[in-house]
Amino acid sequence: MAEAEIGVIGLGVMGANLALNIADNGYHVAVYNRTAARTEEFAAAAGDLSDRVTACATLEDFVAAIRPPRPVIIMVKAGEPVDQQIAALKPLLAANDIIIDAGNANFRDTMRRFTELEGSGLTFIGMGVSGGEEGARRGPSIMVGGKEEAWRRVEPVLTAISAKYQGEPCAAWLGENGAGHFVKTIHNGIEYADMQMIAEVYGVMRDHLSMDAPTMAAVFSAWSTGPLDSYLIDITAEVLSVQDAATGRPIVDMIVDAAGQKGTGRWSVIESQMMGVPATAIEAAVAARSLSAMRAQRAQAEKLLGLPRQQDRRDDQQVVDDLGKALLAGKVAAYAQGFAVMAAASQEFGWNLPMATIARIWRAGCIIRSRFLDEIATAFTENPDVPNLALTPAFSGLLAETDMGLRRIVAEAALNGLPVPALASALGYFDTYRRGRGTANLIQAQRDFFGAHGFERLDAQGEHHGPWGGQS
Ligand code: NDP
Repeated sequence: MAEAEIGVIGLGVMGANLALNIADNGYHVAVYNRTAARTEEFAAAAGDLSDRVTACATLEDFVAAIRPPRPVIIMVKAGEPVDQQIAALKPLLAANDIIIDAGNANFRDTMRRFTELEGSGLTFIGMGVSGGEEGARRGPSIMVGGKEEAWRRVEPVLTAISAKYQGEPCAAWLGENGAGHFVKTIHNGIEYADMQMIAEVYGVMRDHLSMDAPTMAAVFSAWSTGPLDSYLIDITAEVLSVQDAATGRPIVDMIVDAAGQKGTGRWSVIESQMMGVPATAIEAAVAARSLSAMRAQRAQAEKLLGLPRQQDRRDDQQVVDDLGKALLAGKVAAYAQGFAVMAAASQEFGWNLPMATIARIWRAGCIIRSRFLDEIATAFTENPDVPNLALTPAFSGLLAETDMGLRRIVAEAALNGLPVPALASALGYFDTYRRGRGTANLIQAQRDFFGAHGFERLDAQGEHHGPWGGQS
């Protein structure tokens, strides 16, 4: 008998936890996984929730177990597997059933899937989910793209399973077609920048101030009670305080300094470049991950080039205080850039993205959740059309307070050869953004010199050419 109200395909880390979350919220859920052993494992571990779980060995049984019109969440590896799942499901589903791709899809694939499913009678939703394993189980942040009418149909279950910030669900419809997956991509891009800047600050503490991991953990713990309060700062404090059982040393000291990436950071950068909106902090973070992966080359370079001689350093507490300020200022850059990229995409794709709502649904459940996001939500509510977060009273004020800290850290790091690419890019961004008279007048002149591209003048309309090389 078809008693399930919703289905989940894919019982990996995210799908399994999402399905349990759905059952936990009183919904009957049907589940299916390509590899049947995983489905059996899932069913065996469902415990008290078993009554609300129908584990299916075949896709046919799975579809038959859900009451029409069926909402079906696909939570499998992004890319080709999603297309394969849709192709397999399509002949089994009926008109008005909703396919929800909840993986980390490239929003351009999501747009294509919307087009491909047009006229099929099926409804499609591209849904970004953030929060990792724990979020999926206890309440993630959910970013929905598709027809608003389709969202209305699944809103009760999605808001029920989402994280709550002071009682408000962290799930929302953000716009048509690829809007949800685009916003999730930028969320991840910002996450890259956040993590990179925290790692840079850790690097300054470790390599400049010679602080050990437990001492750094105490600094991050203290920060988590102030304006830097966020999930990533909390877990950093925790990570730094954990000892390795095998060696008795801080576990962070035993971990290889090379981090992987799956694509969302890179996509954020590609899309920002395509739209001509700089996202330099995200770009620096993505590049830093790529450089981190070049371990052998870095070791060879250190041998050949050496490290710069350490300069006299300031009082440790002064540096630590500045590091906190630098992190805050760097965060303003990363978020200002991420939101500016979303504003441009909103225009380009006609999504009408609700910036304040995006900040609101990122306040809990997701990896970048923080006190800071509550302030961003307020800033966008008060200034919905502001082109850059840095121009709002709250964030221009915050920049004024933290600017010198960022400046001193970037300068000190540069003098000591300590890499702080994301923080430095944040500073470069603000220094460029805040200067009314820039230097592109010279670039216009150079372009005209070698390519006759022409230039505009401050004191006259129209296109002009220079008297280069004695010509007039
Ligand atoms: P896992 O690696 O834990 O699980 C992958 C799932 O995809 C398995 O169920 C696997 O089935 C299935 N799968 C892989 N290839 C195919 C295929 N060709 N056809 C059908 N099913 C296939 O992944 P996650 O749960 O971590 O990730 C799932 C999605 O969620 C991804 O898009 C990921 O980017 C996204 N995501 C992940 C987060 C995380 O923190 N892990 C956070 C937010 C989003 P099988 O058992 O048969 O191999």
